[in-house]
Amino acid sequence: MGKYTLPDLPYDFSALEPHISGQIMELHHGKHHAAYVKTANSVLDQLTEAREKMDFTSLVALERALAFNLSGHILHSIFWQNISPNGGGAPQGAFADAIQKDFGGFDQFRKQITNVASTMMGSGWAALVWEPIGEQLLITQIYDHQSNLAQGGVPLLVIDAWEHAYYLQYQNRKAEFFESLWKLWNWSDIEQRYAAAAYKHEPSEVAEGVV
Ligand code: MN
Repeated sequence: MGKYTLPDLPYDFSALEPHISGQIMELHHGKHHAAYVKTANSVLDQLTEAREKMDFTSLVALERALAFNLSGHILHSIFWQNISPNGGGAPQGAFADAIQKDFGGFDQFRKQITNVASTMMGSGWAALVWEPIGEQLLITQIYDHQSNLAQGGVPLLVIDAWEHAYYLQYQNRKAEFFESLWKLWNWSDIEQRYAAAAYKHEPSEVAEGVV
């Protein structure tokens, strides 16, 4: 048993149809995400072995593999929670106010993050993050799972822009895939992540103006 485990999906593979096919979800979760978990655990074992042998000749490759696979595990774990068969609509309350403040409005935010996903060169993610030093929301274009990041940002909403996320269903029409996600966003999950990162309080307290 490794350090990291593949989380169960909070819904059936086919629950997100017609927006994301059951076949994609089964492969994406059961093969791609599972492989990141397995490899992250394997790299940790190899690091333990290296320390035991005091042989650090493979360290650069192991560090790189750890960053890639562990970040892949973390981002997918967030993505599954970010979307829901009951999702869609628009955010509410304090989080909607923050979107308004930092992006000028929901439409601007939606357009920017969808474009950040659509213009990805190669594999990567678009992510809405809470940046704690400037205390603001930012949109990041992440290369692979771990590059092009400003350090310390907390991911709140992530869009998987790897081909494996859509190709079986959408082929080269990736913009259609990103548009369809707006029918799935689980705003209560995203608002909860925002409240935890920005206020370190329960979202109900934020909504009630307690904090
Ligand atoms: Mn993926």
